[in-house]
Amino acid sequence: MIKKIFFIITISLEITMAQNIDLAQNLYSNYEIYRENKLTHRRFKHADIVPLINEVKRRGIFSVEKAGRSVEGRDIYLLSIGHGKSKVFLWSQMHGDEATATMALFDVFNFFQANDGLHDIKKTILDNLTIYFMPMVNPDGAEDYKRRTNYEIDINRDVNRQQTPEGVVLRKTFERLKADFGFNLHDQSTRYAVGNTSKSAALAFLAPSLDHEKSIDSVRENSMKLICELYGMLNHFIPGHIAKYRDDYEPRAFGDNFQKWGTSTVLVESGIWKDDVDGQFIRKLNFMSFITSFYSIATKSYKHESAKTYDQIPENEERFFDLILRNLSYTKNGAKIIVDLGINRNEINYNDAKQFYYSSSVEDMGDLSVFHGFEDFDLNGYELFHGKTYPKEFGSLNEIEKLDFPKLYQEGYTSVIFKSKNKNKPFTHLPINIKLKSERVSNSNQKLLGTKPNFVIKKDGLVHYVVVNGFMIGVKSPFGKVSNALIQ
Ligand SMILES: [Zn+2]
Repeated sequence: MIKKIFFIITISLEITMAQNIDLAQNLYSNYEIYRENKLTHRRFKHADIVPLINEVKRRGIFSVEKAGRSVEGRDIYLLSIGHGKSKVFLWSQMHGDEATATMALFDVFNFFQANDGLHDIKKTILDNLTIYFMPMVNPDGAEDYKRRTNYEIDINRDVNRQQTPEGVVLRKTFERLKADFGFNLHDQSTRYAVGNTSKSAALAFLAPSLDHEKSIDSVRENSMKLICELYGMLNHFIPGHIAKYRDDYEPRAFGDNFQKWGTSTVLVESGIWKDDVDGQFIRKLNFMSFITSFYSIATKSYKHESAKTYDQIPENEERFFDLILRNLSYTKNGAKIIVDLGINRNEINYNDAKQFYYSSSVEDMGDLSVFHGFEDFDLNGYELFHGKTYPKEFGSLNEIEKLDFPKLYQEGYTSVIFKSKNKNKPFTHLPINIKLKSERVSNSNQKLLGTKPNFVIKKDGLVHYVVVNGFMIGVKSPFGKVSNALIQ
């Protein structure tokens, strides 16, 4: 008899898990139905989401209210749906330059408004939950695509002092709702790998700590269990690409305090997927994570997870560079050394933060064998030289555009001179850097670390590759593209 009961319980558990995977697979395959097509990149502004929120309001499925205002007078909205007993609260973009999850929240709004055959799933969710959404908590930061608010304060260090109106809105809403579950939505560094593997961290989760001792009470345990379920689900789609965020207690942060004050809080950090510059694939994973979480909380399926699995999720490790050049021979002060170079392409805001350009730098060098490159080249047997500046001065950009770039690369040039006084733009889309005045440099004393990566890579005296502003291009057999070079 005992055996039989055990058998029945095991079967029902498996059905629940399988249902969640089926739901996730359905969302994955049919994502295009839900994607909010008006949001296509990370640099959208408050003015871009207001009409979308008004449209959600007009359709009448969600309740929409203004929860407060930012320093610069932008409305912070609270949307809600459902009539269930358990409350779930999601808030995004308290850091203005962390926009991935905000896009996914608009996909979630479309999900609940779509005619897609998932009626039963939605009914289960909405009968059991009331879900609240606060997209873009920091609209002023989003305007300038920066982390902090107009007051230059990080909202996520303002939960106690309450000096930012945005932080006040978030805390007041939290206190009013006293939600059962909270989702704290951020973007993390794009340099993280999952533990000591060579896989990039697409998403990282955390059940924030309650105290410095990292105690576990039933509130935190529930967020750990939900994370374990999400971890299992996501591993079907992006095996090995899910990490755990570091769990040091931060007494000034919202997530840690919300957890302490009784809301099972899940920190979701959107990371990096190769060649997904605008985070659109990670956005889709966020969307799947939110809907499957709602279903899990509604059906309480997360309760079947063991919180012990949480300990097995590997932590984020800062192990990625955009480009690694390995085993290059380099002559410094007459000595020949072998170096690896770790190069990052850093985004710089441009045109009121509506666009960006890359300014790259050599951020580490030496033995980089424990690091990984999104582009990774073993250049054993090749020699590294600094790129040279072509001596002729050009009078117009037109002349520069018409240059034979492969020929300049073969001769070792990665920059040309443009005789112009006004620097109206710091970059061009040409595959060569532009200097506004000539300069004399001696190759042997030049630094590598911290400098802009403009290099020529030779074998047997012939140029095989060049690096222009951190972008690698094949010269002997062409490959690669310079997204932008710099004007300096
Ligand atoms: Zn953040």
